[in-house]
Amino acid sequence: MQLLVATRNKHKLKEIAAILEELKLDLLSAADIPGLADIVEDAPTVRDNAIKKAVETAKFAKMLTIADDTGLEVDALNGEPGVRSARYAGDDASYFENNKKLLSNLHGVPAEKRTARFRCVIAIADEKGLVECVEGICNGTIIADEKGGGGFGYDPLFIADGQVKTFAEISPDVKNRISHRGKALQKAWAVLSRYLRERAG
Ligand code: IMP
Repeated sequence: MQLLVATRNKHKLKEIAAILEELKLDLLSAADIPGLADIVEDAPTVRDNAIKKAVETAKFAKMLTIADDTGLEVDALNGEPGVRSARYAGDDASYFENNKKLLSNLHGVPAEKRTARFRCVIAIADEKGLVECVEGICNGTIIADEKGGGGFGYDPLFIADGQVKTFAEISPDVKNRISHRGKALQKAWAVLSRYLRERAG
């Protein structure tokens, strides 16, 4: 069975494919659907954005679809950048520019007050509409300088609770096991297995 992942982000696709491998689905991405326009992520929460992306993409492609939307919530910044994580330093900002802005806004904030969490919502939809929405959270701390060359986005600045290295320094396997996306995908895995069983039997 085919599953469409509503993203053009190669980093996300790789993480999602690794975790869903066991389901033996034929994974497609937004880049495989001719004519699929980019969905404008203008909803007020990551949950609403994930639902919007999944539902609109599934309707257009007429295919079982999952969409993830993620926000980094920093306590000392009252939950910012949150839903604006991708555009924190402006529309089309690079990961580097977003990280630079985050560090600048946290300048002078002591280590113990730099607590944060990644919140990842995954929406599952088919051509009839939303099937289910699941969430994964990973708590951690924002460090003072980028460390590590792996991962993407805010990974070089984020140390998950219980770890000593940033998400950009640990292996993809470890990140997938403990990350917000990994946790959300474990739940999505259960929803997709049930969905496929119901249709098969
Ligand atoms: P999106 O809207 O879900 O694509 O994600 C918003 C922003 O959050 C991205 O531009 C990345 O900067 C950041 N982000 C999403 N997932 C991760 C992750 O797993 N690690 C680090 N940053 C992430």
